[in-house]
Amino acid sequence: MAPVHLTNADLHSHSNISDGTLSPEDLAARACDKGVELWSLTDHDEIGGQARATQRARALGLDYLTGVEVSVTFAGETVHIVGLGFDADDSALQAGLAATRGGRRDRALRMGDGLAEVGVPGAFEGALKYVGNPDLISRTHFARFLVETGVCSDTHEVFRRFLTDGKPGFVAHQWARLADAVRWITRAGGLAVIAHPARYKFSPTAEYALFSEFVAHGGRGVEVMTGSHSEPERVRYADMALEFDLLASRGSDFHSPTESRTELGSLPDLPGRLKPVWDALEHRVQRGA
Ligand code: AMP
Ligand code: MN
Ligand code: MN
Ligand code: MN
Repeated sequence: MAPVHLTNADLHSHSNISDGTLSPEDLAARACDKGVELWSLTDHDEIGGQARATQRARALGLDYLTGVEVSVTFAGETVHIVGLGFDADDSALQAGLAATRGGRRDRALRMGDGLAEVGVPGAFEGALKYVGNPDLISRTHFARFLVETGVCSDTHEVFRRFLTDGKPGFVAHQWARLADAVRWITRAGGLAVIAHPARYKFSPTAEYALFSEFVAHGGRGVEVMTGSHSEPERVRYADMALEFDLLASRGSDFHSPTESRTELGSLPDLPGRLKPVWDALEHRVQRGA
């Protein structure tokens, strides 16, 4: 493998076990084709795809780290915490994730009601047709349904008009607590990472609280190179990584060949001044055969 900073690591991606469109196997093959050297499948609130991802990655000669993206509620906002390199058989982690995703079906039914009220009937049933895993119905599945039925022209328009706070298909939801998410990941032998920090609508004070509390609970990393960050945001979170002594991660957040703006393995390398998160996870890498 290339020197640690130049490793083409992609440690954030989704399969149809959550809201991606490819199977774990097809995603592994695509990562390999796109030149990824160290990969992680990080489905939302769900590790049911880990064995399949690991197996196919290893068969393709691709190094693999177990992964998950946990939905957390912090200061009234949804924050995503990526876990990497944990033991996927850990029962406390599995139970915590099951509890986190447990409310998704009721939330989705209420989203369907909200959409029906503004003249978009049948959205719950429609979204279900796109769901690969009945435990994991997400806003993305609703977005696909509204695009296919011509209500909107792309998924970003659906989120803007219907699925964000204050819009008719939005249902406020209480996800996991930050302390719990970090603890589940860490006790399972993994490392917790703040996902795409620029996406949250926090005041500077609330953002500082997020980083401070995350570190206090044992969180270790932050995504600097992600499909969601602009160039100035990359610089800003590189500075934050140094300020909070966090390891830096890199991940496309790839969901689909047609919907994702950032391809697997296509982000710039981490700046040389940062410590890559995978440097601290070497003992957890499952080597490709
Ligand atoms: P959920 O976990 O059900 O709240 O769904 C969150 C998912 O919706 C995220 O992981 C993204 O895949 C997707 N998403 C959120 N905001 C947007 C947006 N503005 N445009 C497209 N997809 C989005
Ligand atoms: Mn998603
Ligand atoms: Mn996310
Ligand atoms: Mn993601």
